[in-house]
Amino acid sequence: MRSVGGDNFGDAMTSLTDALEQIRSGDNIDYDQALKLATGNEPAALYKAADRLRKEMQGDHFDLCSIINARSGKCSENCKFCAQSSRYQTEIETYDIIAYEEVRRQGLENESLGVARYSLVTAGREVSDKDIESFASMYGQLGHESDLYFCASMGFLTSNKANKLVAAGVKRYHCNLETCRSFFPRICTTHTWEEKVETIRIAREAGMDICSGGIIGLGESFGQRLELALELRELEVLSIPINILTPIPGTPLGEVERLSLGEVLTCIAMFRLINPRAVVRLAGGRAQLGDQQYRCFQSGANGAIVGNYLTTTGNSVIEDLQMIESLGFSTGGVDAKK
Ligand code: SF4
Repeated sequence: MRSVGGDNFGDAMTSLTDALEQIRSGDNIDYDQALKLATGNEPAALYKAADRLRKEMQGDHFDLCSIINARSGKCSENCKFCAQSSRYQTEIETYDIIAYEEVRRQGLENESLGVARYSLVTAGREVSDKDIESFASMYGQLGHESDLYFCASMGFLTSNKANKLVAAGVKRYHCNLETCRSFFPRICTTHTWEEKVETIRIAREAGMDICSGGIIGLGESFGQRLELALELRELEVLSIPINILTPIPGTPLGEVERLSLGEVLTCIAMFRLINPRAVVRLAGGRAQLGDQQYRCFQSGANGAIVGNYLTTTGNSVIEDLQMIESLGFSTGGVDAKK
């Protein structure tokens, strides 16, 4: 047995000590190594190693963001997990473009609580040129009234749309891969994984940095979660939201079994080991873990979406901040990668 700072982490074949040394030296772990690390170590040792790596490479800053559902439901696409697809009978509220007053109210409220990032999120495959103008105008107005750091999540982009968002002050674009390339066709057939990668490319080319992650618990294998983590690294994504599926009645995944806490924590830890430079951000579905969700922040995660989620219930912001700070993190501001 070898040790890291006095903690024993496993044998030579699956040594977390060796893996951490390799990662610190700038040499990434590959799929086979990741699988061995996840299956050949005690879960508690894996979580501890991931937490240590997070602290060493990212410090104690915790990256908070908030989102507002700027257009809800009536989506043409068929993502099997999603309450907002018009193909499924769900009980969500649907509306077209949200009123600016509501965007402003929620943005300023979040800012007053210390949540610096704010994203408008729209349901649907894409946003029309006309609607992009409306959202750009909202960003522009709110930019005059706040110091919020703007993100956007508006489906597939063209260069023209991306440039309009950038001109309005949007700094980061969110486009989840949702799941790995090999599993994606089992989850959605109305668009492709490659189209998502293309939007990431367009957003980056326009000058935005990228937030992209996925949902775990869709029926993918553990190996496919590792594939997603590796694909995100390949795309050099530095903000990775991880959603935990909340099965929504009426969707094709409405009855699937929920992931256990252990499965979630192992996934978080592996995303950290595979993506040591990224903010690993706990996103939708975390409330289903109750107070145990905070263990994610001791297993490699260092960011979260706070406040109201799109169609699943989130934690209250103040409660979140208290818990996160009690774990030794500092909140406020944005992470180093702007
Ligand atoms: S995930 Fe997005 S594209 Fe897919 S159904 Fe939901 S709103 Fe539409």
